[in-house]
Amino acid sequence: MAEMIRTENLIFDYDKRDEEGNKIGSFRALDEVNIEVEKGQFIAVLGHNGSGKSTFAKHINALLFPTGGTIFVGGYDTKEDAHFWDVRKSAGMVFQNPDNQIIGTVVEEDVGFGPENLGVPTEEIWKRVEESLKAVGMLEYRQQSPNKLSGGQKQRVAIAGVVAMEPQCIVLDEPTAMLDPVGRGEVLAAALKLRQEKGVTVILITHYMDEVVDADKLFVMSEGKVVLEGTPKEVFSRVEDMQKYCLDVPQA
Ligand code: ADP
Ligand code: MG
Repeated sequence: MAEMIRTENLIFDYDKRDEEGNKIGSFRALDEVNIEVEKGQFIAVLGHNGSGKSTFAKHINALLFPTGGTIFVGGYDTKEDAHFWDVRKSAGMVFQNPDNQIIGTVVEEDVGFGPENLGVPTEEIWKRVEESLKAVGMLEYRQQSPNKLSGGQKQRVAIAGVVAMEPQCIVLDEPTAMLDPVGRGEVLAAALKLRQEKGVTVILITHYMDEVVDADKLFVMSEGKVVLEGTPKEVFSRVEDMQKYCLDVPQA
């Protein structure tokens, strides 16, 4: 299988600043993370709030760059300027709050923004919009205003917007944290259908154990390190570790 993501001793330090903005120190949010993800895998990342999950996610599409070590995305070192756009395009991000990600006044327009910004020809944009809305089960809502949709439906539109850019990898950072159980089920099903149909790599950050049981591999983070790694069966069998590192109230 081909490599999607690989890190070598990935370190990230946030700057600590005083009120005037002077740097007064740093905080290590990622502490020598070594992981490998293969193309087409469904990977889940677990861990308490503040363990470094989002900081890791932001390295996958070059929103953040390592302070130390290296992250390769689709074989490219994200720090190489020449490959910035290759990296940016290969990973699509879906965040917790769908309201912050949907900008169109009509669903299909919203989904079309991404490919339009990438310079995709108009005819091809409409083809992608239709395909990606269909893939997440939202085609019948294409003419609707996103404001009228439920949280789960909005999040599926956000996923369609990412899919329309044809990334190799989708990173979902607590995409279901603000949803009711029905919405959660819809969003997870939509993401996994994409993996099934298009071979997209899915990286899911979540607090919900029921969402990760079918993952190929779990990474559990604590204080910037990967402290547990393996199949769900392997990781769940470490009952004491799981209680220590994963029992957590979902972020509001
Ligand atoms: P998670 O997503 O697992 O909740 P984060 O990656 O958001 O964790 O945060 C990891 C650590 O880095 C936390 O201790 C958090 O307070 C800190 N952190 C996150 N963002 C910043 C920032 N912009 N500046 C300084 N510290 C930050
Ligand atoms: Mg987070």
